[in-house]
Order: sequence, then C-alpha cells, then structure tokens
Amino acid sequence: MTQSILITGSSRGIGKAIALRLARDGYDIVLHCNSQRAAADEVANEIIKLKRQCRVLQFDVTQRELVATTLLKDIEQHGCYYGVVCNAGIARDNAFPLMSGEDWDSVLKTNLDGFYNVLSPLVMPMVQRRLPGRVVTIASVSGVMGNRGQVNYSAAKAGIIGATKALALELAKRKITVNCVAPGIIETDMVADAPMEEILKFIPARRAGKPEEVAAAVSFLMAEDAAYITRQVISVNGGLA
Ligand code: NDP
Repeated sequence: MTQSILITGSSRGIGKAIALRLARDGYDIVLHCNSQRAAADEVANEIIKLKRQCRVLQFDVTQRELVATTLLKDIEQHGCYYGVVCNAGIARDNAFPLMSGEDWDSVLKTNLDGFYNVLSPLVMPMVQRRLPGRVVTIASVSGVMGNRGQVNYSAAKAGIIGATKALALELAKRKITVNCVAPGIIETDMVADAPMEEILKFIPARRAGKPEEVAAAVSFLMAEDAAYITRQVISVNGGLA
C-alpha cells in the first residue's frame, strides 16, 4: 500500500510546494487547509493528475478538540499516516512594546499549540503501525536566532524546535524520526509585505528562497534513506544563520 503523508497548511505557499513534491516522490497526500478551501481543492486536483491519492481536511489548528476528532476520523477511515508535516503557521509582527496580547496569543496558539494539537492524536496510532514513520516540523530562522519585530514568532518557532527534539527522543526507538526544517526568507504570501530590498542585504545568497527549496529538504527527510537522521534542525536559508 502507498504510504500517506499529512501536510498541514498545504493550501498555498510552502505547504503546497511540500505536498506537490511529496506527491511526485510517490506518496499519497492528505492536504489540509483552514480558510482557503478552494485553493486546497485546486492543489488536490494537481495531485490527482500526478496519479496519487489525495483528500483535503479542513480545520483551524488552534481548535484542539476539532483537530483531534477530524484526524482520528480520517485515520479510522483510511489508515494512519506514514508521515506528518506540521507546516501551518502565521506571523503577526510588531516591535515588542507595541505587540498586542492578541498578536502574542494567536502566533503561539497557531504555531506552537498547533504542534501539540496535530501530533498528540497521531503519535500513538503512528507507533501502533509498528512501521517506520516521519514527522517534520517547519520552524524558522527566527526560532534559531531570534528576529526583531518577531518576539512572538521567534518564541513559537524556538518552542517548536525544542518540542521537535524532545519528541524525537521519545520516538527514536520506534523507528519514527522527528526533525525540523528551519526556512529563512521564502517567497510566499507570508512575506509579501516585507521590505525585501533591506532584508536581502543580510542574506549571503542575496535572494529569497523558493517554496520548492524547502520542499526538497522535507522530501529528503521523508525518504527511507533518512532513517538514521532524527532530532535535527535543517536550515534552508541562503546562509542567513
Ligand atoms: P502562508 O501564509 O503562505 O500559508 C500559511 C498556511 O498555513 C496556509 O495553508 C493556511 O491555511 C495555514 N494556516 C494558517 N493559520 C492556520 C490555522 N489557524 N489553522 C490551520 N491552518 C492555518 O505561509 P508560508 O507558506 O510562508 O509558511 C508556511 C510555514 O513556513 C509556516 O509555519 C511559517 O511560519 C513557516 N516559515 C515561512 C517563512 C517564509 O519566509 N515564508 C520563513 C520561515 C518559516 P489557509 O490558507 O487555508 O487559511
């Protein structure tokens, strides 16, 4: 049976690129969206054209009970996933003195609580498959080194890195690897309003990355060949950190 991989936040941006890349790699794909159902359905059509199975789940990753119910129903119907990519995330940037409680809470809840809400219902079923498995989380260069205007986002992404490393320890002997990919500046909606000319001065490669370049790192970590790589953070950032 073909192995399936869930990618959260795969209606657009990096998640979409990961989904398309993993479909080309030969996996069946479980897409996920929150607000952009039509966009996710289009991605699903592209994947079906690649002759892979594909379905779309829709939920807000901050809604803990809804996430668990939806995921448990999906794996009951279709079997548990080989891999999970925790990619859904948001940024709400502001200088710290001006950062509202709402901006702090929403970024922590979506990025960091999202890790718990998605993985908590899935880990035992993955273990019970008694087969190799893969978890890849998407953090950020901001979580590795901190970034001004992103105290909330840096905290959430650093939290994801810590959580990823700890979960890797718990699952290593079960043949489930848990790794993190930490992108730098990648051309997606998330950075559409960023002052790119200024930012590029700090990137040794002097360009933004493409979503497909992040997807390539995820593809590598998903492969059978990567079975002995776990608890690692792989940066995809043009030399930024
Ligand atoms: P986009 O804004 O392009 O896409 C975000 C995705 O996350 C969408 O699919 C969106 O779903 C989903 N999402 C957002 N909030 C929620 C929520 N509450 N519940 C469920 N899904 C949600 O972002 P990117 O592709 O740029 O980012 C993807 C990941 O990569 C994020 O974790 C981000 O932090 C990280 N990253 C991005 C970088 C960049 O430069 N772009 C750099 C470093 C890390 P929908 O569209 O359906 O609402």
